[in-house]
Amino acid sequence: MSHSRNLSSWRQAIQTKNASVNAFVHISPPPHPWPESKLPLDGLAVAVKDMICTADMPTTSSSALLQQFHPPFDATVVRLLREHGADIVGKVNCDEFGMGSLNVHSVHGPVVNPFQAASAASSTVWDERERRSAGGSSGGSAAAVAASMCYAALSTDTGGSTRLPASYCGVVGLKPSYGLLSRWGVISFADSLDCVGVMANSVDATRRVFGVLDVYDEQDPTSAPPETRQKAKEAARQSWSGASLSSLRIGVPQEYFPQELSTEVSGPVQRAMKELQMRGATILPVSLPTTPYALSAYYVLSSAEASSNMARYDGVRYGTQIPSSSEDRFPNTAARYAVTRSVGFGSEVQRRILLGTYALSADAFDNYFLQAQRVRQLIKDDFNRVLRAVDVFSRDVPATTDGVDVLIHPSAMRTAPPLDFEAGSSNSLDAYVQDVLTVPASLAGLPALSVPLRRTADEWPVGISIVGQWGADDTVLRVGELIE
Ligand code: GLN
Repeated sequence: MSHSRNLSSWRQAIQTKNASVNAFVHISPPPHPWPESKLPLDGLAVAVKDMICTADMPTTSSSALLQQFHPPFDATVVRLLREHGADIVGKVNCDEFGMGSLNVHSVHGPVVNPFQAASAASSTVWDERERRSAGGSSGGSAAAVAASMCYAALSTDTGGSTRLPASYCGVVGLKPSYGLLSRWGVISFADSLDCVGVMANSVDATRRVFGVLDVYDEQDPTSAPPETRQKAKEAARQSWSGASLSSLRIGVPQEYFPQELSTEVSGPVQRAMKELQMRGATILPVSLPTTPYALSAYYVLSSAEASSNMARYDGVRYGTQIPSSSEDRFPNTAARYAVTRSVGFGSEVQRRILLGTYALSADAFDNYFLQAQRVRQLIKDDFNRVLRAVDVFSRDVPATTDGVDVLIHPSAMRTAPPLDFEAGSSNSLDAYVQDVLTVPASLAGLPALSVPLRRTADEWPVGISIVGQWGADDTVLRVGELIE
């Protein structure tokens, strides 16, 4: 397979499709001449979410405040991709600072889901197809992969931003265990939850890119040290050796099938589970009772951390300086900050800053922030109670010998919503609710993989998620391979 031919087919797809999909916000010039090497990702086109720093392209986080930002360095994950031969084809759209579920909060405009029902494809031109959301916040990453504009894409995932768009666009999306992939050079949203994710059209391609990035980075203080990684891998192998489906125990958490779950989603997910059972896997119903509190805890904690992270964008040290609208200069520094932040941040980011600042205020701290931290611990305990592999971070929790190796559940409550979904609903809560199935694994720091289920060419994509113990990324990838 010639890489240069691959390269041009991906770049051709960018040229023909990007105007209507709006995935890429910056395209890099093709490397010339193409270097001859034998590296693992040699010549493979990889798109990078615009929250991840690149030395040769701007990094805007889809924010008006960072439109002029040209980082002088590559994030560790980008450096690793380049060192392994990948061609970084460009930067892809996202919700501003990763805050959103539909990729509609972007200074670059919304991403349009490239999925096209087969019946529509024959009768309509590309630009006239049904306009649905690609999901968010990594909508550009998912759409770029779905439209074959790249081999793989880097995304981020704080509360579902990789798995939700993967599910809506019909691609594979991996949120690795927290701390496995370096966050150095990745613009922070909520540090205790942020993960770099990988998206591709197959589990194999996802694994290939993940394998290159899964290394300790001393520049990231939250990067898991090599011994911890090793211990977790052994614990995962002890739980399930990967030899056969007949030794795999799959837990199905009842709380992940709420009444509101669309039948478009529940039907195919149930069928996929039945099929796994017929092929020899043991399917067990399990309960994760804290699940109903996860969404509220997530929005309190992520907004609290975001309010602190967003404080640096004041137009003085970080962020575009917004000129004073009056003839005079700003009367004082506070006025400069206020104008910069009111004009520079979009409405969703401003909402999160207000939410988070309130949760951290003296009056609300105990009732909101601390309470949410407690819920986070209960969520972790729920997972540890049902998973067979030991949690390498809690020494006092013994392995659950009769537990399950992985959990399986729908990735999203519905198929891709129409692009005006949020505008048509009464409040932004409708968009927040989309994350209800993805945030528990984020709060617990666990690996989660969304894999598209095989559907007819006329049905909008549906994803199924596989969640494992911390460090069992290889296990969730293997199970993903068995499902796809
Ligand atoms: N939709 C969630 C939010 O808006 C998750 C975002 C993410 O994972 N970056 O917070």
